[in-house]
Amino acid sequence: MSRFAMVIDTRRCVGCYDCVVACKTENGVPEGYSRDWITEEVHGAFPTLQMEIRSERCNHCDNPPCVSCCPTGASHVHEPGGVVLVTHDKCIGCKACLAACPYNARFIHPDGYADKCTFCIHRVERGLDPACVSVCPTHCMHFGDLDDPQSEVSQLLNSRPHHALLPEAGTKPCIFYLT
Ligand code: SF4
Ligand code: SF4
Ligand code: SF4
Repeated sequence: MSRFAMVIDTRRCVGCYDCVVACKTENGVPEGYSRDWITEEVHGAFPTLQMEIRSERCNHCDNPPCVSCCPTGASHVHEPGGVVLVTHDKCIGCKACLAACPYNARFIHPDGYADKCTFCIHRVERGLDPACVSVCPTHCMHFGDLDDPQSEVSQLLNSRPHHALLPEAGTKPCIFYLT
């Protein structure tokens, strides 16, 4: 089996939005919507403040509430890789998955179905990196298989401190931020 994941180095991210623009172009994301976004978070107290800049998107959770709540099976886990996807013509636009996602990663596409990051599975299945990963000018984003101990993502997680978002939600996210 494989378990796709992203590892993002917050020390290298400069918040340039190239990943956001690349995603919009690659995936034809309509005007006014985004599958990925930049979050800036300040930690500490003056004068020892630290800012973390993160490129965020659907976490392709291992325990995805957006899938278990979907009444039609439109939201599903795609194997191999464990990528969470939406089958457009099965989606009735009920928004249950939007309410269930603690990361606010989904939106209703103007054509009526729930949309979000697909981990660019159409590229990954051709042996390419996701569009956002491939354009990052600081190379802070890494994509690969967590089930392969030799993969770059596995080795980065073994060698660097990291965190995932909202672990307390119990969703088991597959995007990790190096700190
Ligand atoms: Fe579902 Fe949200 Fe997790 Fe993505 S981040 S798999 S939309 S719960
Ligand atoms: Fe499922 Fe679509 Fe409803 Fe989301 S909006 S829960 S994908 S039917
Ligand atoms: Fe967009 Fe693809 Fe990156 Fe997801 S993996 S944010 S769909 S470019």
